[in-house]
Amino acid sequence: MTKLAIGIKLERCIGCQTCAFSCKMQNNVPDGMLWNRVISEGADNEDGSVGTYPNVSRTYLPLACQHCENPACQKVCPTGATYKDEMGRVEIDYQKCIGCRMCMAACPFNARVFNWVKPERATGFDYGDAEVPARKKGVMEKCTLCKERTDRGENPMCVECCPARARVFGDLDDPESEISKLRASGNVRILLEEKGTRPQVFYVK
Ligand code: SF4
Ligand code: SF4
Repeated sequence: MTKLAIGIKLERCIGCQTCAFSCKMQNNVPDGMLWNRVISEGADNEDGSVGTYPNVSRTYLPLACQHCENPACQKVCPTGATYKDEMGRVEIDYQKCIGCRMCMAACPFNARVFNWVKPERATGFDYGDAEVPARKKGVMEKCTLCKERTDRGENPMCVECCPARARVFGDLDDPESEISKLRASGNVRILLEEKGTRPQVFYVK
């Protein structure tokens, strides 16, 4: 089996948003949407801090689909549009999606974005990977772990572009992979573990 995942080293993340915007470019994500966001944990804006001067701190938290082993979104999808693929990724079949948004409500990570209107790009044309399928109005979308790139043996674009080398991509089912060693290193944080969705994406403090 294969279980593709991303591990994120929080101490390395500088909040530059390169992951968010490289994802947007690669995947032709429409205006007003992001598949990958970077928030400032506990603060009220993306570059905010917590605490009172001089005791202030800031921790950036990149957030996208957690590619759960036990995905809450898949369970509620009435058409089978959301599915777990053979590489361990959670994917959406855009042809089967009827736009009911049950998955959006079920996802504890707010990872899904919906095309309320016909997708438009600031450039007026598609600029991403030509192999990434087009989406239309009324269809759900989210991080695919850069399916088209990873099928070609390449890193997801966020991993490739992160200037701080905060992101590690690989197969959690390969005990010799860098990501498996990172996960086994201790100090690992799983978001909303109590929800029982078993995220494959994880964070190292
Ligand atoms: S590109 Fe890397 S350093 Fe920049 S916000 Fe994303 S994870 Fe953090
Ligand atoms: S919006 Fe689409 S992917 Fe989500 S639950 Fe409905 S049919 Fe499934």
